[in-house]
Amino acid sequence: MSGHKYMDLFLKEEDLMAGEMFRSFVDKEIMPVRQQIDDDKDHRIVGRILQRLTDLGTQKAAFPREYGGGGMNSLVSAAVMHEELGRGDSGIATAATVTTWAFLPAILAGNKAVLDAFAPMFCGPELKMGCFAMTEPGGSHGGGGCDIENPSLHGRKIRTLARLEGDEWVINGQKAWASNSGVSDAYCVLCTTNPEDGDEGIALIYVPASSKGLSFGKFENKAGMQGDKNCMMYLENVRVPKEFRAAGPGHDAQLFHNNVLLARINTAALAVGNAQGAFETVLNYSGERIVAGKPIRRHSIGAGILADMAIGIETARTYYLAAAYMYDHPEIYGSSSSNTMLSRASIAKVYAADVAVMVTNKAMELMGSYGYVRDYDVEKYWRDCKIIQLWEGGAQLGRLDVCRGYYDCEF
Ligand SMILES: Cc1cc2nc3c(=O)[nH]c(=O)nc-3n(C[C@H](O)[C@H](O)[C@H](O)COP(=O)(O)OP(=O)(O)OC[C@H]3O[C@@H](n4cnc5c(N)ncnc54)[C@H](O)[C@@H]3O)c2cc1C
Repeated sequence: MSGHKYMDLFLKEEDLMAGEMFRSFVDKEIMPVRQQIDDDKDHRIVGRILQRLTDLGTQKAAFPREYGGGGMNSLVSAAVMHEELGRGDSGIATAATVTTWAFLPAILAGNKAVLDAFAPMFCGPELKMGCFAMTEPGGSHGGGGCDIENPSLHGRKIRTLARLEGDEWVINGQKAWASNSGVSDAYCVLCTTNPEDGDEGIALIYVPASSKGLSFGKFENKAGMQGDKNCMMYLENVRVPKEFRAAGPGHDAQLFHNNVLLARINTAALAVGNAQGAFETVLNYSGERIVAGKPIRRHSIGAGILADMAIGIETARTYYLAAAYMYDHPEIYGSSSSNTMLSRASIAKVYAADVAVMVTNKAMELMGSYGYVRDYDVEKYWRDCKIIQLWEGGAQLGRLDVCRGYYDCEF
C-alpha cells in the first residue's frame, strides 16, 4: 500500500520518522539473522542487536532528561516502536522494551533514590537490562498468573512478602516467567506488605541483580520468543533500602495497574508487527508460487484469505493507536487508571493477539509446506505470537477486563 501506514491523526512527525528508522533498523540488523535467533542460546546475536538498539537510544528514551535520558512520555511513540521491532523479532522487541517497563513506576513516581541509583547506568552507552517481575508460580492458594493482575483481587493473591526492618525492605518469595529474568541488572519486584491489606499492601520494590539472597532457576524451554529469556526467580531475605519502594501504600497499586494497562497496548502493537511481518512474507510468496496455472493470490479463495489478514492488521493497528492516543490524553478521554482505559487497552491487546494468531496460521496455510519450514520466516512468526495471546492476563482475563469498562463487575 502506498502512503504512511500509521494515521498521522494519532502520530507526531517524530513518531513517523522513528517508525521509518526502526523499520530500516529491522531490515538491516534483524532480518538477515532472524532465522539464527532460535539457536542463539547464549544470546550473542541477540545481545549485539540489543546493543545496537541501545546505541540508538531506546534504553534511555523514557528516563528523565536530567539523568541523560530522552524524557519520552508518549505511549503512541512507544507503541510504534513495538510494532516495528515486532515485525523483525518479537522476542528481541520484548527484551529491548521491558527495561523501560520496569522503570516506569519509579519514573512516574519521580522516585529520586531509585533514579539516582539506577538511571545513570541505564542512560549510559552500554546495554543494561531491566525486568518487571509480577507473575508468581501458582499454589494451593490459587494465584500465580492472572490472579496477580486481576484488579478484582486487589493484590490479595500476591505471595512475595516485603517486610520493613529498620531502613530496609526484607523480601521473600518467588517470581516466574518475567521477561529478562536471570539476565537483568535490576528488577522491579511486585510484592505485598500484607495480602490482607489488598491494594494498600501492594509494593513495587527495586532490587539490584547483585543483591544477596537473589537467585534464579534454569531458563524456560519455550515454543518461541527466544530473544527473551525467562526463568524462576527466588528471593530469600533480600534486603534493599526502604527508598527503593516505587511510591507508597495505594500509589504502588495504581502504578502497578497502570503498568499492566500500558503493556497491553504495547503488546497489541507487538502483535500487529508480528502479523505484518507474516503478511508481507505471504504476500510475496503467494504472488510467485503458481498453483492450478496461476499465482496463489490470483485465486479468489487465496485473495479472500489475504483480505481477511489485511482487515485484521489494519483494524488492530488503528485501534491500538487510538487506545494509545487516548491514554496519552487523559484530559479528554479520562484517567489512564480508569476501568474505561483498562477496557480500551484490553480490547487492543485481545484483538491484536487474536489477529496475529489468525494471520500467522493462515499465512502458513497459504504457503503449504514452505510455511512450515524456517527458511520462509512464517513458522517463527507463528510460534512467537502465540504467547502474546497468553500473557498479560491471557485471552480470558483480557476479555473480562474489556467488560469492566461497560458495567460493574467482579471476576
Ligand atoms: C515469554 C513470556 C514472557 C513473560 N513476561 C512476563 C514479564 O515480563 N513479567 C511477568 O511478571 N510475567 C511475565 N510472563 C507471565 C505471563 O504474564 C503470565 O503467564 C500470564 O499473566 C498468565 O498467567 P498464567 O500463564 O499462570 O495463566 P493462569 O493465570 O493460570 O490462567 C489460565 C487461564 O485462565 C484464564 N483466567 C484468568 N483469570 C480468569 C478469571 N478471573 N476468570 C476466568 N478465566 C480466567 C486465563 O485467561 C487463562 O486462559 C511471561 C510469560 C511468558 C511465557
